[in-house]
Parts: sequence; structure tokens; C-alpha cells
Amino acid sequence: MRLTVIGQWGGYPKAGEASSGYLLEYDGFQLLVDCGSGVLSFLQTHIDVKELDALILSHYHPDHVADIGVLQHALLIQYHLGEYNRTLPVYAHAEDKTSFAKLTYKNLMKGHQYNPNGTVEIGPFSISFLKTKHPVPCYAMRIEAGGKVFVYTADSAFKEEFIPFTKDADVFLCESNFYGEMNGANAGHMTSFEAARIAKGACVKQLILTHLPHFGDLNQLVEESSSIFKGKVLLAKKDLTVEF
Ligand SMILES: [Zn+2]
Ligand SMILES: [Zn+2]
Repeated sequence: MRLTVIGQWGGYPKAGEASSGYLLEYDGFQLLVDCGSGVLSFLQTHIDVKELDALILSHYHPDHVADIGVLQHALLIQYHLGEYNRTLPVYAHAEDKTSFAKLTYKNLMKGHQYNPNGTVEIGPFSISFLKTKHPVPCYAMRIEAGGKVFVYTADSAFKEEFIPFTKDADVFLCESNFYGEMNGANAGHMTSFEAARIAKGACVKQLILTHLPHFGDLNQLVEESSSIFKGKVLLAKKDLTVEF
């Protein structure tokens, strides 16, 4: 599996970068996980939009879905140019019916509701879910392919259930929107200490901190996580690619 970070900022993107968006590739299949502000632009430095095979969404906050509309326009323009003749499947929960309905666009994009209590198969990926603690319905994802495991928390306050859900992940992409000593729970987010607590409890191979805060020294997040979790800890950043 190959993970490429397209955008790593929480809330909104910093200048010249993007908020949540992660490209997962296995066996030639390109799956985009979340599509926040700036993602469409930077995705194109890695693949052509026409090559995208599927998109999956954790929730409908703008820093995770802001670029869906422009992605639809990109497909429409490519269709009119005679370059695109597919329907891009977008997997999402339908607990927000208005937002879910907007995912289907002409014959170019089609919303598919995932069952959060089941498993969805998307190309070579087998995906299961965990409802997170967040102000709006949001789902973490455990994505498996070729015997490898990738877990993405999406947005959430800490919950104990993350530990069994994340068990033995090869790559654990965990939100850390707050520094260790802060309280992220009220905002529906985690700290670097909480990310590390899950990583340690789940015996993951590698922790990548993401959904990063717009304040402080980000290296402190890594130092704080490393004080608890003794495996590899990285900060997500644009264009970071991890093969596993
Ligand atoms: Zn977010
Ligand atoms: Zn959110």
C-alpha cells in the first residue's frame, strides 16, 4: 500500500497547502480519503484527476469535503473535452441527507452510502468503520489490502474503542489537533498524548500525526507522542509518501 499526504491541516489550509486529503494506492487502484480545501489542486501533482478510482469521506465538515464541488467541475470539463467517461464512486455516510445528496452529480459522480456497522469493499480495499466523538457524525476507517492495515481516525476526541479498532496497524494516521497538555475533547479532537496512547495500546508499527493545529511548534507534537509511544512517529506533511 502507498499513502500520500495531500493535505494535513485541521480546520483550514495554510497558504500553499491543503486541509484533509490522503491518497491510498494499492495494485494500481487510487482511493482518495477525504477531499478538503486545496486537495484538488495538490492531488494533481501526484495523479491526474481522471485516474482517481474512488473517494471515501469521513464526515461533512468543510476541511474534509470543501473540494468536492470543484472535483465535480473538473470531471465535467474533462467529460466535455472527451477525456472522461466514467462515474466516480463516492462512499460516505448518509446521516446528513442534504450533504449526502450533493455527492451525486450528473453521471460523473455517484454517492454510495456505507454501512458503518459493516465492511465495504472498494477495489482491493476492505474498509470497516468506527463512529468517532465529534460534533457531527464522523467515522474512522480501518482500511486493509494485501495483508496490510491502514487506520485513519478522521476527527475525534479520544475514545478507548480506538485501541482495538487500530490493533496492529502498519500505519496509523491519527489526528492530533492539540498539544499534549491541552484538552481537545470539548472540540471533538485529540492531543499528541492521546494519539500515542492509542498507538501504544494497539501496537502499531508507525504513527503519523495529522489534522495539525495552526499554533505552536509542531515538532513538540512528535516529542510528546514519542514520550509515550516508542515506535516511529512522523508529522504528516504535504507530499509525504509512505510505502508499507
Ligand atoms: Zn477536520
Ligand atoms: Zn470535523
